[in-house]
Amino acid sequence: MNYTIALLKGDGIGPEIVESAVEVLRAVGKKFNHEFEFKSYLIGGIAIDKVGEPLPKETVDGCLSADSVLLGAVGGPKWDNLGGNVRPEKALLGIRSAMGLFTNLRPAKLYPALKDECPLKAEIVENGFDIMIVRELTGGIYFGERGYRDGKYGEEAFDTEAYSRMEIERIARVAFETARKRNKKLTSIDKANVLETSRLWRKIVKEIAKDYPDVEVSDMLVDNAAMQLVKNPAQFDVIVTSNMFGDILSDEASQITGSIGMLPSASLGDTKRGLYEPIHGSAPDIAGQNKANPIATILSCAMMLLYSFDLKKESDAILNAVDKTLEQGFRTFDLARTTTPLSTTEMTEKIIENL
Ligand code: NAD
Repeated sequence: MNYTIALLKGDGIGPEIVESAVEVLRAVGKKFNHEFEFKSYLIGGIAIDKVGEPLPKETVDGCLSADSVLLGAVGGPKWDNLGGNVRPEKALLGIRSAMGLFTNLRPAKLYPALKDECPLKAEIVENGFDIMIVRELTGGIYFGERGYRDGKYGEEAFDTEAYSRMEIERIARVAFETARKRNKKLTSIDKANVLETSRLWRKIVKEIAKDYPDVEVSDMLVDNAAMQLVKNPAQFDVIVTSNMFGDILSDEASQITGSIGMLPSASLGDTKRGLYEPIHGSAPDIAGQNKANPIATILSCAMMLLYSFDLKKESDAILNAVDKTLEQGFRTFDLARTTTPLSTTEMTEKIIENL
């Protein structure tokens, strides 16, 4: 099969890690007989430098005409003092909205080879964990009505959380479908003891559950979920939650996996075209030094193969190659406490050898 992939390398370590991921995809293409065509577009700080805006129209058009999109990272100190509309990060919200991406999938997996990197006690993570967080991405309090007003005690600010039936139904369906492809266990996280939006969320998740009798579903309050993630993370398979709760819980989950350099993500909408990116930023402190861990971006490609192209065998091949490389003891500097670290390109070569 032929696939066109738009590359948004961005800033800092973005170009290095995207180049690594492209090498891995080329190797996958060769092994499984697929043709991947890559087209690069400007985004973030480099786009501001070259054309004066963080998300040029040509980039949006290129992404919308590609089969899928791979993003490195944007931002850095050089652009930190620019005004709101020309900040590199503005491009992220812009491209998500242009592509209609309302689901954010963030896996948090503890690799057995990286158990010592987990900040939790050994007995808690004895059997590892493998969680998929399904976060609603375009609704809730981050997009609700907001402002300042004169309150009872003077100056007051407010933000509002609103969720429609449509928004909850569509994210719930994504979560049930995701659980169906994994261990068929779904935890819906809310704050239904306090919030009306959570009570509607809970009601609708129960309704949708009737269409997925093979998936075991339960509700959990977000405060309890925050505790359970560090007490017994292995109890979770798929988590579905709102925009803000997902933002916070997915960062908590990422911390217990060891290194931010290991975590991929996928943002999806109604079509097969998704936006795949590592969860970390542009790491300006190590940019251009060929030392960034490329695994989060490589694993983002594994997600692309699975979710955008339905290439499960090819996606599994990447996952297995990463597993094997870690089992063999190879590490980039962020994980190499007791071994000599590999560079970004050396790590990429090892993963390709193991494909
Ligand atoms: P960061 O994730 O870039 O870096 C945090 C720390 O983790 C740094 O010490 C960095 O060296 C390290 N790190 C990150 N990725 C790594 C990798 N692959 N391998 C090894 N080490 C890695 O977060 P930050 O420092 O808060 O932000 C830097 C810039 O990135 C800022 O401009 C921020 O706005 C931007 N940012 C962009 C995105 C994105 O593009 N999606 C996300 C977060 C932050």
